[in-house]
Amino acid sequence: MLRRATLAAAGTLAAGAGVNAIAPAILPPDRSFSPNPSYWARVLAPPGPALATDIAADVVVIGGGFTGLSSACYLGRALPGRRIVVLEAGACGNGASGRNGAMVLTLTEDRYLRQAEDAALERRLYELTADNIGVLQALCAELGMDCELEQRGALQVLDTDEQLRSARDFVERARTQGFPYELWDHERTAAAIGTRAYRGAVLDPRGGQVHPGKLVGLWKAAALRAGARIHENTPVAAIEEGEVHRIVTAGGQQVRAPVLVLATNAYTARLGYLRNAVAPVFDYVGITPVLSAAQRAAVGWQSGLPYNDSRTEVYYAGITRDGRIHLGGGPVDYRFNGDLREPACAAARHAALERELARLYPALAGVGFESAWSGAVDMSLDGSPAVGQMGRHRNIYYGIGYSGHGVNLSSVFGRIIADLATGQRGAWTWLPFLDRLPPYIPNEPLRWLGTQIGLAATRLIED
Ligand SMILES: Cc1cc2nc3c(=O)[nH]c(=O)nc-3n(C[C@H](O)[C@H](O)[C@H](O)COP(=O)(O)OP(=O)(O)OC[C@H]3O[C@@H](n4cnc5c(N)ncnc54)[C@H](O)[C@@H]3O)c2cc1C
Repeated sequence: MLRRATLAAAGTLAAGAGVNAIAPAILPPDRSFSPNPSYWARVLAPPGPALATDIAADVVVIGGGFTGLSSACYLGRALPGRRIVVLEAGACGNGASGRNGAMVLTLTEDRYLRQAEDAALERRLYELTADNIGVLQALCAELGMDCELEQRGALQVLDTDEQLRSARDFVERARTQGFPYELWDHERTAAAIGTRAYRGAVLDPRGGQVHPGKLVGLWKAAALRAGARIHENTPVAAIEEGEVHRIVTAGGQQVRAPVLVLATNAYTARLGYLRNAVAPVFDYVGITPVLSAAQRAAVGWQSGLPYNDSRTEVYYAGITRDGRIHLGGGPVDYRFNGDLREPACAAARHAALERELARLYPALAGVGFESAWSGAVDMSLDGSPAVGQMGRHRNIYYGIGYSGHGVNLSSVFGRIIADLATGQRGAWTWLPFLDRLPPYIPNEPLRWLGTQIGLAATRLIED
């Protein structure tokens, strides 16, 4: 979760597209895939076999996160007997899917708990995304896997009295439009999450939380059961587009397939696609050890509900089933040229998150994180996602731009991608994100400059 103001300044610099080619000349592009050090990754299954020979497939999916694995699952179900192949650079869940803040949210980043311009459309999107959490629960039951998935609600906590006032108007109006949101006052919020730091909260009763590593495991198992082959430790180095694509891995193996799914999220520009649609922005998360019974009692997080706050550089928190608190968000970072190596300031960001944890829960001062990590968010300029079909032969499918709001939405997009690729396009023409390209983000060095200006302005406003 990262509000879109961050990149707004980059957009204002879009006129400078003429300097596009300069950046690669300044610095060679980063091609690394750092392993996922997150707490969630501890439950990931050992990676499957890397691709060792040239193969032909009916569909090749690049990326083994929620988008790629759910696309492969739905495609496998829709096309039994066809060869669906997933190529993942590291282990499945190596990207944002295995590193996130565990909130399972309705709607999209740009529409979440915001006044609807078109209430009927908004309701349809709300139902689609809220129902998808039920789809995840049904999949857990079908495969006999427990992902610690709960749909008991998610809170957006309000930092100021002004936000509380506008939330009151928002909730009143939204309820007349059929949304089930509730406004909670200061006392009720404090009793629910154990901190008195907030003026109140909006409850979305159909949101929830999950163990992200276990959710990766669920989608991986579902894709395999649907007949997909998954090759991990298989980075794709190049795509030669055609009626039949030629996909070349870093190891030199080739996959030929007439259908390609790009499920590479913040890494997509490296493959030469959607370069100006999203920018990779680093966000940070930490998790405590299991709290003792006394610590949990002192914290008093009675509801167990996850929450995010209403700052532009959002903070988000949750408590796991075994009693660990995780906290993420705050200041984010963009590295020049979309470099995806962890920024040098990561340790300072984690230390700041620990201070925020102690501010929210003074009883935890000195407890600190057992594990802390970073992950790249595929930030679009307007915070709105995109799903669709592109390429000279219209045989490349993509889902992107979740902007930090994709734990749930990514598998909705997996379903849509499968439908688009199997001729069910008609079911989705109502969707405002279909075949959309997010607003243009300029290339370097204007992208870096714009992002720094946007971040500085955001921090100035919030301080
Ligand atoms: C720190 C953080 C916190 C977040 N918190 C939340 C939250 O609380 N709630 C929420 O809804 N959303 C959250 N998100 C966003 C959410 O995690 C993502 O939107 C979602 O996981 C996107 O899934 P994906 O499959 O599209 O991308 P990813 O999970 O990033 O998957 C892309 C995969 O593609 C692989 N790949 C890339 N390039 C190649 C290549 N060339 N060859 C082969 N493989 C390649 C990568 O290794 C990666 O595994 C958060 C994100 C981050 C980073």
